[in-house]
Amino acid sequence: MTKTTDFLSHLNSSQRTSVEHFCGPLLVVAGAGSGKTRALTYRIANLILKHRVDPHNILAVTFTNKAAREMKDRIQKIFAEQIALSQYNKTLDKLAPHEQTRLRSQVYKTYIKDLWIGTFHSLFSRILRFDIEKYQDEKGRRWTKNFSIFDESDAQSVVKEIITKKLQLDDKKFEPRSVRYTISNAKNQGLSPRDFEREQPNYRGRVIAEVYGYYEDKLAENNALDFDDLILMPVKLFQQNEQVLGYWHQRFRHILVDEYQDTNRIQYDLINLLTTNGETRKSEWDWRDRSIFVVGDADQSIYSFRMADFTILLDFQADFGDGLPDEDTRTMVKLEENYRSRETILQAANQLIENNTQRIDKILKPTRGEGEKIYCYKADDEIAEAQFVINHLRSLEQQHSEFNWGSFAVLYRTNAQSRPIEENLVRQGIPYTIVGGLKFYDRKEIKDVLAYLRAIVNPYDTVSLLRVINTPRRGIGKTTIDNLVNAAQQLNLPFWEILNDETSVNTLAGRSAKGVNNFAQLIRKWQEQVDTLSPSAIVQGVLDESGYVKDLQNQGTDESLDRLQNVQELYNAVLQFEEENEEVNLSNFLASTALTSDLDNLKEGQAAVSLLTLHASKGLEFPVVFLVGLEQGLLPNYRSLDDPKSLEEERRLCYVGITRAQEILYLTHARERRLYGSREPAIASQFLAELPKELLSFHLSSQAKVSSTSRSTHQPTQKWSHPQDNSANNNSSAADAERDWRVGDRIFHKNFGIGEVTHIFGSGNKISLAVRFANLSTPKIVNPKIDPLQKV
Ligand code: ATP
Ligand code: MG
Repeated sequence: MTKTTDFLSHLNSSQRTSVEHFCGPLLVVAGAGSGKTRALTYRIANLILKHRVDPHNILAVTFTNKAAREMKDRIQKIFAEQIALSQYNKTLDKLAPHEQTRLRSQVYKTYIKDLWIGTFHSLFSRILRFDIEKYQDEKGRRWTKNFSIFDESDAQSVVKEIITKKLQLDDKKFEPRSVRYTISNAKNQGLSPRDFEREQPNYRGRVIAEVYGYYEDKLAENNALDFDDLILMPVKLFQQNEQVLGYWHQRFRHILVDEYQDTNRIQYDLINLLTTNGETRKSEWDWRDRSIFVVGDADQSIYSFRMADFTILLDFQADFGDGLPDEDTRTMVKLEENYRSRETILQAANQLIENNTQRIDKILKPTRGEGEKIYCYKADDEIAEAQFVINHLRSLEQQHSEFNWGSFAVLYRTNAQSRPIEENLVRQGIPYTIVGGLKFYDRKEIKDVLAYLRAIVNPYDTVSLLRVINTPRRGIGKTTIDNLVNAAQQLNLPFWEILNDETSVNTLAGRSAKGVNNFAQLIRKWQEQVDTLSPSAIVQGVLDESGYVKDLQNQGTDESLDRLQNVQELYNAVLQFEEENEEVNLSNFLASTALTSDLDNLKEGQAAVSLLTLHASKGLEFPVVFLVGLEQGLLPNYRSLDDPKSLEEERRLCYVGITRAQEILYLTHARERRLYGSREPAIASQFLAELPKELLSFHLSSQAKVSSTSRSTHQPTQKWSHPQDNSANNNSSAADAERDWRVGDRIFHKNFGIGEVTHIFGSGNKISLAVRFANLSTPKIVNPKIDPLQKV
C-alpha cells in the first residue's frame, strides 16, 4: 500500500485527534453514541496503515465476542478500500465481485488474522494456551495447555456434587448457584479458601470455604479452569514469571480497551501489567513506542455486580499520565457529538441521567434531526404488553421499507421477561434471536457432544467423561460408575487412567465391563485422530460412532427431532469455524464455543428481531427499540428501591437502554405482571416520571382485554431418564474371603508379574484388589477370584 486516501475523513476532529495520537496513554470519554467505538476501530487501522505497526503488536479488548467480530470486519473493509483505491484507483464496490473477494482474503491474511481483538476472556485464554505450563499455583498444582474451560453450569454442577456428595449437606440450605456465586466473588477479590474463612468465621462461611477448597481441587484434577481463572491466572502467572510477562509486554505495544468503565480491578491489573511490565514507568521515554488507549462512559457503568468499578476510568490519567507534561490535554479527549440517536431520544436520555448525583457532567450535541416523540404504553399485563410490542413492530416492518426484522430490539431487565415476547413471536412466525442469553451452547445435546470433544482433547476432564460415559445408554450403571470413580479417588489416579485400563475395568465394572471398555476404546480411537483429521471429521465420527445421533433418531419424538437439528447446527458451527480460522484444531474450536454464549454468530445474515437484556445491549444500536417492563421493582429492580447507590446503577441501565435507539423508542409497562410464578399489581417506574413530558406520546391501553386462559404456557418438561443400573447389587458383605487379603500382601500375577496390594475394594464375592506391579507405572485393579494370581 503506497498511496492511501484519507479514511480518517469519516471522523470528526476530536475523534481524529484521538486516532492520530500515536504513543503514550490516552483516555476518550464521551456519552453514548458519540463514536468511541468507531474511534477505537479506526485507531487500529491507523496504527497499521500510517505508523506501520505490525498487527502482531496490537491487543484490543471488546466487551462481547460479537463486538470483536464487527471490529475485525470493519478494519478488513477499511484496508480493502485502501488497497482498491491505491491499486485500481476505484472504490471497493466498483471492483468485480471476485476481485473484491480476493482483496478481502488478501487483507485477512496479511493483517487481520494476526490482530488480537476479543474479550478479556478470549484473549487471556489464548495467552494461557501458550504459557499455562509455566504456571504453578500456591499448592503446587499445574495445568497443561489443552485445559478445559468450565462454563457456569459445569462450575455449578461441580459445586453441587461437593455439597451433596462429598459433604453430604442439604443443597436447599447451600444452594449451589449462590455458593458458586460467593466462591466466584471470593476468587475475584483474591481470597483463598482460608482467607475467606477468616473473613466469615461463622458456620456458613466455614462450609463455603470448605466447598471452595474442594472446588479448586476438582478443577485442577480435571485440568480445567473456570471463567474467573481465565482472568485471575494470567495475573498470577505474570506476577510469578518475569519472562512470561516480559514476552507479552514486548509483544503488545499498543493496547486498546473499549467500555473501560466496566473493567474490574483484576482486569485493570492485567492491562496495567502488560503496559508497564510491572514497573513504575511514566517518563516520556517509556512511552516512546507504546500506547494504552481506553474509551468509556462512566454513565454506562452497569456491571458493578461483577465488581466493575468506574473509578478505574476516572483514575486513568493519574494511573498512566503521571509524569507527563500537560496531563489533561495530552491524555484525555472528549467527544461531544452524538451520531446515533434522534434529538428527542437523546434529550430524554440526558435528562434522565442528570438525576444521578455520582457523575461528571458531559455535553452531548445531537447531529440528527428531532425525530418522533417517544411512545409510552401501559398494558393490562405482560401478555398484553408482548402483544403491543409485536403488533407495533409488525406494522412498522410492513409500512417502512427501510426496516426489516433486524431493525427491532426488545430490551428488558431480567431474562425471565423474554418468554411472553418469545411465545408471541413464535406464534406469529417472526424470526428472532436472543442475544447473549442462555442459548445454543447451553442446550443439553450440545453440551453432550462438546463433552465428548472435551474428553478427547483432555481425557483428564473427568466431568466431561462422566457426562457421556453412559450417554447414549451403554448399559453402564450408576453403581459401576461409582465403583470406578471411587477406585480412582482412593488410588489418587485420574479417572481416565482407571477407565483406560481393561484389567481394572473388567474387575470393577462387572457386567458393564464391555460397555465401559468400548467407550474407552472409542475415546482412544478419536484421540489418535486428533492430529490427522479435521475437527469436522472428528465431530462427524463422534456423532455416528458414539450412537448419539442414532439414539435421537430412535426416540422419534418432536423433542428429539429438535435436538437432532441442534446437533446438526453444531456440525455447521465446526465447518464455519474451519472456514474462518487459521489455526484449525479441535482445542481451538472448543475454546471458541466455551467463549460464545450466543447463537447469533451461527445464524448471522438472517434478519431477526433481537431480544436481549439491558446488560447485553451495551455498545449496540438498533433503529427501533422497545424497552419493556418499566415498573418499580423491575426497572429499577427491587433491591435498589431503598439503596441510592444501586438506584443510580439502575438509572444508568435505563440510560443505556434508551440510548440504543436510533430512530424510534417505545417504553412500556404493565398494570399487573406475572413474574416468578405470582401475579402482582405493578406501578410505573420512577424513571418514566423523570423523563420530560413534552417528549412523550401516550398510547391508550387497549380496551379489548385478551383472555389469557386459552394460551398454553405449559412447557414440556425435559424427559431424560436416569440410566438404568445394570450391574448386580453390590452390598454383599460376606466377610470370609476378605480375611485372606491385606494391604501390603505380595502377589504374583501371571501376566503382570510381582506386585503389592495397595487397596482392597468391596468384600466377599465382590472383592477386588489394587496392585502396584513392579513392572508397571500405574496400579491395576484385579479380581482375585478370576485373575490368574496368587499370594507369594
Ligand atoms: P456507546 O457508548 O453506546 O458504546 P459509542 O460512543 O461507542 O457508543 P459508536 O457505536 O462508535 O458510539 O457510534 C455510534 C454511531 O455513530 C455508529 O452508528 C457510528 O457508525 C456512528 N458514528 C460515529 N462517529 C461518526 C462520525 N464521525 N460521523 C458519522 N457517524 C459516526
Ligand atoms: Mg461503543
